[in-house]
Amino acid sequence: MTDFQNVSLPGPTITPISQPFWDSLKQGAFTLQRCNICEGWIFYPRAHCPHCFSQSLRWEEASGRGRLKTWSIVHRPGNPAWQKLAPYAVGVVELEEGPSILTHILSDTHQFDYLQKVKVNMITTGDQPLPFFEVYS
Ligand SMILES: [Zn+2]
Repeated sequence: MTDFQNVSLPGPTITPISQPFWDSLKQGAFTLQRCNICEGWIFYPRAHCPHCFSQSLRWEEASGRGRLKTWSIVHRPGNPAWQKLAPYAVGVVELEEGPSILTHILSDTHQFDYLQKVKVNMITTGDQPLPFFEVYS
């Protein structure tokens, strides 16, 4: 497992729209936006529903589970602060609720498979938990 405690990593760029997402992670909850009109789940955070364009949205706790759709191993990170952790895996997880999230996959790569079940595992860097994922069966 990667040691995230002994490196200084840049945190996320938090906007007024995404603030509730990052705040909920600090409370230990993985929340997504949900549309009050069509009930569609939404990720990334935004000002309107991508399904019906309503601006009436709420935050709701999600399952934190999904399936690994694709992944890649990063050997040369775009930001040099991540170099100490390389190589590491990033992947696209299709959440049970529907949206996809680009995230770190913490498990050993020999466990990876198309549509492998994964669940959220929050990793804290600095004072901000990040929603990384890990394989489970
Ligand atoms: Zn909608």
